[in-house]
Amino acid sequence: MTKPAEKHVVHWIGGAPVPTAGAAPRRGDIYDPATGRTTGQVDFAEVAEVDQAVAAAAAAFAEWRHTSLARRTAVLFKFRELFDARKDELAALIVSEHGKVHSDALGELARGQEVLEYACGIPQLLKGGFTEQASTGIDVYSIRQPLGPVAVISPFNFPAMVPMWFFPIAIAAGNTVVLKPSEKDPSAANFLARLWQEAGLPDGVFNVVHGDKVAVDRLLEHPDIKSVSFVGSTPIARYVYETGTRYGKRVQALGGAKNHMLVLPDADLELSADAAVNAGFGAAGERCMAVSVLVAVDPIGDELVERIKERMAGLKVGPGCNGDSEMGPLVTGQHRDKVTAYVESGLADGAELVVDGRKHLITAEDANGDSTADGFWLGPTLFDHVKPGMSVYTDEIFGPVLSVVRVSSYEEGLALINANPYGNGTAVFTNDGGAARRFQHEVEVGMIGINVPIPVPVAYYSFGGWKASLFGDAHAYGADGVQFFTRGKAVTQRWLDPSHGGINLGFPTNS
Ligand code: NAD
Repeated sequence: MTKPAEKHVVHWIGGAPVPTAGAAPRRGDIYDPATGRTTGQVDFAEVAEVDQAVAAAAAAFAEWRHTSLARRTAVLFKFRELFDARKDELAALIVSEHGKVHSDALGELARGQEVLEYACGIPQLLKGGFTEQASTGIDVYSIRQPLGPVAVISPFNFPAMVPMWFFPIAIAAGNTVVLKPSEKDPSAANFLARLWQEAGLPDGVFNVVHGDKVAVDRLLEHPDIKSVSFVGSTPIARYVYETGTRYGKRVQALGGAKNHMLVLPDADLELSADAAVNAGFGAAGERCMAVSVLVAVDPIGDELVERIKERMAGLKVGPGCNGDSEMGPLVTGQHRDKVTAYVESGLADGAELVVDGRKHLITAEDANGDSTADGFWLGPTLFDHVKPGMSVYTDEIFGPVLSVVRVSSYEEGLALINANPYGNGTAVFTNDGGAARRFQHEVEVGMIGINVPIPVPVAYYSFGGWKASLFGDAHAYGADGVQFFTRGKAVTQRWLDPSHGGINLGFPTNS
């Protein structure tokens, strides 16, 4: 096949594409994970480009914060229409850089769209309280106002959905945005920026800077950036939280995960096996809500592992653009090698390798006829008899590796989950409502599925984990999102009438 021209992704500042200045700008490679080919390059921002983006956002804020809710929502509705009409195109772009299968990319866009639709209701969401006659002749009410230019820093695994957890609400509430997406799949952010412009969003309200730590650090310290919404791995989330708050910013930093699925002996094993495979290997395990540990309560372990193994054998692993693929490659060769090294260390630690993904059959060509021989592949992998302390158990692998831990009781399973430093998502599979209710009450995790394997809450609830999975106290989107992107004012008013005059130096009390 003829090789298409390589793309060059640049920043989007003040409504226009902007490359990094200088004769030899730093750049990162963009790959097609299914073929392993380099398909382009992305410019990395220096301090100057970040400053330019923040200046554009600050200038736009001066107008946007005064724009009426009616006009803001008109732009949001238009953006929603354009987004809905063009999501197939955006999904194909995501597949080409991330590697996930097309239907999964569409799924991510559907979940992003949910938040967008939630943000379209901003007039309702921003309504404050009003108390008439709090004291004689005095009314009290509350209003919520935008913060200013805000930063969103996102990971590679959901190049559209994760930014969309934040920017629709931020913009609807009157803020302006600088997005720093992952350098591994940067094009979705620029696609969204152009869509905003088409929808009539004033230039400078939504900006994109690409890059690495240099860009992130400048956003964290820049005095005009008022808040930071971060999603990524736990060490970086902790760093972003500590640094951003040190600079006086409001920060929500969502980190990594090690999600456990507890299967009780009375559970429907067919449903549980389906759920384990779907949530373990969907998006090649590169989801923060992937199930990576299955906790099987005796005596169902053998039967459950057998059913999971049967299902794994039939999984079609191939390029995301091929309509029949169920699981795609990993995002980069480096990440694939890291995940493969975990398979080796699991074996060395004495876990039982039930299904070896290194041997899984991969579809030989993508839909364009290009060979997949050099793609970043690892098939679905299953370990049984994993013990806490083994690296496959302790570390977030972020790949298609599912570990089964056997426990003898509900209590032992619960203690295992609660002892884990992460607390993003978890699930319990059971037919016993009382056991499920007890689990939901006792487990120390932020998002829980009951017979549901990936409990990503809908847009009008908020998304967020506990412990090392979230730093800060604001979860993403839903009511927490509105709260995070606004600050409150309480107003006490009196319209003078002549009877209220007079000097009184006492502390005002109600009467
Ligand atoms: P990452 O932490 O490597 O990168 C996230 C962002 O931080 C990127 O924009 C990246 O450019 C930037 N970054 C990387 N290193 C940095 C550094 N040293 N200093 C400053 N910024 C830096 O994460 P990733 O590999 O892109 O994404 C996968 C991780 O994200 C996993 O740990 C996954 O669990 C997590 N994640 C969590 C959630 C959640 O909701 N909790 C959602 C999605 C992904």
